[in-house]
Amino acid sequence: MRVHDKLFIGGQWVDPASDKVLEVVSPHSEEVVGRVPEGTEADIDRAVEAARAAFDNGPWPRMTPDERLEIVQRFAGLYAARLEEMSKVITEEMGSPISFSMVGQAPPAMLILNAMIAVGQAYEWEDTRAGVWGGNVIVRREPVGVVGAIAPWNVPQFTMMSKLAPSLVAGCTIVLKPAPETPLDTMLVAEMLVEAGVPEGVVSIVPAGREVGEHLVRHPGVDKIAFTGSTLAGRKIASICGEQLKRVSLELGGKSAAIVLDDADLNVMATGLQLASLMNNGQACVAQSRVLASRARYDDVVDAISTMVGNLRVGDPADPSTDVGPLVAERQQERVEKYIALGQEEGARVTVGGNGRPQGTEKGWYVKPTVFANANNEMRIAREEIFGPVIAVIPYDSEEDAIRIANDSDYGLAGSVWTSDPTHGLDVARQVRTGTYAVNMYVMDFVAPFGGYKSSGIGREFGKEGLEEYLEYKSIVPAFGS
Ligand code: NAD
Repeated sequence: MRVHDKLFIGGQWVDPASDKVLEVVSPHSEEVVGRVPEGTEADIDRAVEAARAAFDNGPWPRMTPDERLEIVQRFAGLYAARLEEMSKVITEEMGSPISFSMVGQAPPAMLILNAMIAVGQAYEWEDTRAGVWGGNVIVRREPVGVVGAIAPWNVPQFTMMSKLAPSLVAGCTIVLKPAPETPLDTMLVAEMLVEAGVPEGVVSIVPAGREVGEHLVRHPGVDKIAFTGSTLAGRKIASICGEQLKRVSLELGGKSAAIVLDDADLNVMATGLQLASLMNNGQACVAQSRVLASRARYDDVVDAISTMVGNLRVGDPADPSTDVGPLVAERQQERVEKYIALGQEEGARVTVGGNGRPQGTEKGWYVKPTVFANANNEMRIAREEIFGPVIAVIPYDSEEDAIRIANDSDYGLAGSVWTSDPTHGLDVARQVRTGTYAVNMYVMDFVAPFGGYKSSGIGREFGKEGLEEYLEYKSIVPAFGS
């Protein structure tokens, strides 16, 4: 049992403003495994006040980038030493199989941090250009100010670090609001920040739900909101930021397509889709939940995927041999079960899985990993984000048709193409309107921008482009001749 009775505000462990408590319930055992204070609007106010003071008057934005990077590197060293512990906490909180957590939860957060440090080291914080009037112009990059960062529960460290790392490197101060389902992992981060010597006020952490999150978004003391979560919440947040002309970046939902070309090796494809479609129990924004197969090889593709899914081990996420664990909460289990029933009503055929408790599980919020054949792109199971281990296999007539179907989505986050001709795969990649794409696998690389086209978001994380979401440009024209 992990119990915290203080909140990390302004760089110190303080008593919360109320006695409200967030209970963390294991999705596997349905038992309480942790407790933290639930943040309130008063806690957000205190955190923003501390962040504002640290930004307006404190040392952090006034240090040289190198001075800041030295402290951030100390933080990275401390983070690297606690990867296993962090991965275990996340598995306890939200049911990610430990085999996935150990590679897909805490380690990417560390890579994101290291990659952002490298961006900061190489970054041109100021340049001088020849101006049109005969003199020069100095172009400076300055931190955007106080950042309000809101993260979801599915990859809590990944999404938190994708906002914390650029904030720190840029010289911003930041108030983090973890999701109420996963407040425990960020508590470890607070300990590391103190040990690394990040100055007081630079980071505060207030775990809370939606209303308190919205208070952070509306807060006049916040200069920028960085959000990862559902498209529905993203629209609401963007509208508030639009009204206030507050900077905002949004990483939202997806309904990504894996295109299986006729020359694909179906073993490579099926093995690769175990990760690409079903990672983290299918609770991934980048999940390739639509698989597009040519009519000529449709049955073979359905068979290969169904066999792969049928062999997955569903059960206790703490067991290293588990492939698929429970969903995060009962409401998510009900949601995914509704989509499985809906797919059948829409006329798709379940080849493996379907509703009902998976064998060997007695409690916990489990669903059976499920494959739908005879799906088409008009069905709701092909258009809406299900956020569970469910794949719809959709037939196409030609390669152009496959690209058309892949693009026929409100979303545009990720995608993949499976082919024995990787050069041709790149041709396909260029025609699909998504922020990231891969050939014969799905992976993102933290040196390169990540984000969504269309309803999958606004702005980018990672790389130089990701750092620039946390900067303002200032152009200074010095006196001519000086
Ligand atoms: P959610 O939108 O319900 O909640 C996400 C976070 O936002 C939580 O911390 C929640 O408390 C907060 N929140 C919700 N409404 C808010 C509001 N109006 N104002 C302020 N804060 C608010 O999403 P979820 O169910 O926790 O997460 C799953 C979603 O996140 C999926 O749609 C998934 O695709 C998306 N996601 C996207 C990415 C990406 O990088 N594009 C990564 C991971 C998850």
